[in-house]
Amino acid sequence: FSSDQSVIVIGATNRPETLDPALMRPGRFDRNVLVDRPDFKGRLAILKVHATKIKMDDTVNLERIAKLSPGFVGADLANLVNEAALLAARNDKKRVSMHEFEEGIERVVAGLEKSTRLIHEDEKQRVAYHECGHALVAISLPNTDPVHKISIIPRGLGALGYTLQRPEDDRMLITRSELISRINVLLGGIAAEDMIYQESSTGAQNDLQRATDIARRMVTEFGMSAKLGRVHYSDVQRSPFLMNATSGGDHAHSEQTAREIDLEVKKIIDDCMHEAAEILQDRKDLLEQMTRELLEVEVMDDKHIKRILDAHKTGPSVMPGTFKDESESSNVSPPVSSSEDLTAEDQASREIPPPPSADGM
Ligand code: ZN
Repeated sequence: FSSDQSVIVIGATNRPETLDPALMRPGRFDRNVLVDRPDFKGRLAILKVHATKIKMDDTVNLERIAKLSPGFVGADLANLVNEAALLAARNDKKRVSMHEFEEGIERVVAGLEKSTRLIHEDEKQRVAYHECGHALVAISLPNTDPVHKISIIPRGLGALGYTLQRPEDDRMLITRSELISRINVLLGGIAAEDMIYQESSTGAQNDLQRATDIARRMVTEFGMSAKLGRVHYSDVQRSPFLMNATSGGDHAHSEQTAREIDLEVKKIIDDCMHEAAEILQDRKDLLEQMTRELLEVEVMDDKHIKRILDAHKTGPSVMPGTFKDESESSNVSPPVSSSEDLTAEDQASREIPPPPSADGM
């Protein structure tokens, strides 16, 4: 090669943290292009590409679909368009409408509906209390995403019910109080079961796992524990691309610190559990009412929830809720984001959008 000729080498990986540093040295790969989860604009552009492959009617609003799908990556969006097309075909429709897209989003988030699965009446009631517990805690706390839907129709692998919260927009940073609120919401299900049945069930396993994970990261990665201070203790390197991909390293801290971390994580969970239980205790009538109605209709949307809330105007002891009047906000309705599942088995769940990794914070 002469000096005016060049060879361009392009490489891609989804595990950049495992690359040999020699590869990353200047002069090797001069440009690093990070392909992150798409934001609203990105999702819209991706949807437009996939939407050319199917026939849609006038009701479909791709912008709205992009708004409703924060956290979705390209593959999720392709899957969503595919699901919507399949649903339309199954319903003998010539064109795909918005309805199929909305159902498609739910399928991608929570899995397939299993309306044929038989569930014991008493189990169903427990699931209803559990899901209403999540929803009521979310509604009662500031800093939470509005509840979009509660369902006790089983979906996916092991989910017996789920509560969908819809984030208002793409979030890049999450504050401590928001994380605490998320843990509160996750524990709302088990707190409701505790309160009504005086004992919990195996269904809360996934909730506990996710709550504990958030609490641990607050202590070890985000410096959010007063006791342990502003120190990054985590010895786990998270891939910025794969949510659950981690590669362990040597312990960067002493056994003593490890024990303190465990205690601090437990304290956060205990405090949140206490708070969730208190909220539900304060609004027990409302919980009972919601559960009764959920058992009747099985799927409850935000308008239905609001009706119940309005009928139960509460006193000043209740914290300001984040439940928004749909008519005021920009008419975007449907779902997405965290589905809290009452799982019988472990299920691949959407976790908190990983706070922007490394130097982003
Ligand atoms: Zn749950």
